[in-house]
Amino acid sequence: MRQIISSDFRLGILGGGQLGKMLCQAASAWDITTCVLDPDPEASASGVASRFTRGSFRDYETVMAFAKDVDLLTVEIEGVNIEAIEELEKSGLPVFPQYNCLRIIRDKGLQKMLYRDHGLPTADFKLFENDDQIRNALNEGVLRMPFVQKTRLSGYDGQGVLVVRTNNDLPKLFAAPSLVEDFVEDALEIAVIVSRNIHGEVSCYPAVEMVFNPKANLVESLLSPARIADHLADEAARLAKATAEALGIVGLLAVEFFIDKNGCLLINESAPRPHNSGHHTIESAITSQYEQHLRAIFGYHPGSTQLTSPAVMVNILGSEGSIGPVVYKGLNEVLGMEGVKLHIYGKRQTRPYRKMGHATILAATVEEALEKAGRVLKTLKAEA
Ligand code: ADP
Repeated sequence: MRQIISSDFRLGILGGGQLGKMLCQAASAWDITTCVLDPDPEASASGVASRFTRGSFRDYETVMAFAKDVDLLTVEIEGVNIEAIEELEKSGLPVFPQYNCLRIIRDKGLQKMLYRDHGLPTADFKLFENDDQIRNALNEGVLRMPFVQKTRLSGYDGQGVLVVRTNNDLPKLFAAPSLVEDFVEDALEIAVIVSRNIHGEVSCYPAVEMVFNPKANLVESLLSPARIADHLADEAARLAKATAEALGIVGLLAVEFFIDKNGCLLINESAPRPHNSGHHTIESAITSQYEQHLRAIFGYHPGSTQLTSPAVMVNILGSEGSIGPVVYKGLNEVLGMEGVKLHIYGKRQTRPYRKMGHATILAATVEEALEKAGRVLKTLKAEA
């Protein structure tokens, strides 16, 4: 491959959200030219990309036209036009993550089959074509409540996920092809980000612990490192690496796990890109996840994933009942707290629970950072 840094080499990124923005920022530190495609002219990455193209990354022709002017293509979102990705890869353009990884991961059914086929632990599941098949399975006694239904395609941030506990939940079943899996009771959720480069070198970050906002079903805070036993952290790292190897992915893979009541790890799902659960690495690890993704897709050695500080990351979500041009309240108070690092994504419009930014709080211990994170969330408001 040609010289990438300080050259006319162009890195194409499908998607211009906050992950795209932070990827462009990391690329800029290495003097790499970034070209971003996103339908929203005010997308977070629009102000930091070297070149921004307005258009849909879900549209075949648009992706094909965009890719004519790039030397390597990556993604910050998995819902991209997969046919275009396949075609571009066949034409010889380096595309990382590869077509086959995106094809498997975007379909939760294929993802679960990959885990099962490679002996990677995951909650037991069955595949269904529609909701009637699920009702029949219940009537025949081959399926029992509680269970979780997930549509195979286009689930994102808890959409397309339904927990079915009683008959009252049945009218809510999705009609689309889906998987149904065992409900993991009282699960702790953790995530491990692993990178794999073109030469097969893998490296992973210590596990992080995810805490959810029950109303929005979004990750509210994320603790690094996770407060789990060493043997579980080691096992999660081993499984995350094995998943990256099973996929043969080049780039980052964020692997989310449940730890069940018996202390067993189960893979929930994976994302083939920089991830919410790795934001803290910008300030609290030697190498940020964004730099690590660049290293992987360019075939460089992975950077050190060692943590430099305990950290808690909180999403700054749009306030409830507030829609319109955003105003940040409490900014100065929050910036006055020691160890608080703010990232504002640059979305001009706020709406309830929209991810407007995040704060990473560094402290001597995770507990101390968590206490401060609570104050950040109470103080900083994204309102219209
Ligand atoms: P998404 O792709 O939208 O992130 P997930 O499959 O991660 O969807 O599910 C969203 C959330 O729903 C999970 O983070 C978890 O809190 C809950 N969930 C999903 N599957 C299960 C399960 N099998 N048992 C218990 N909770 C689950």
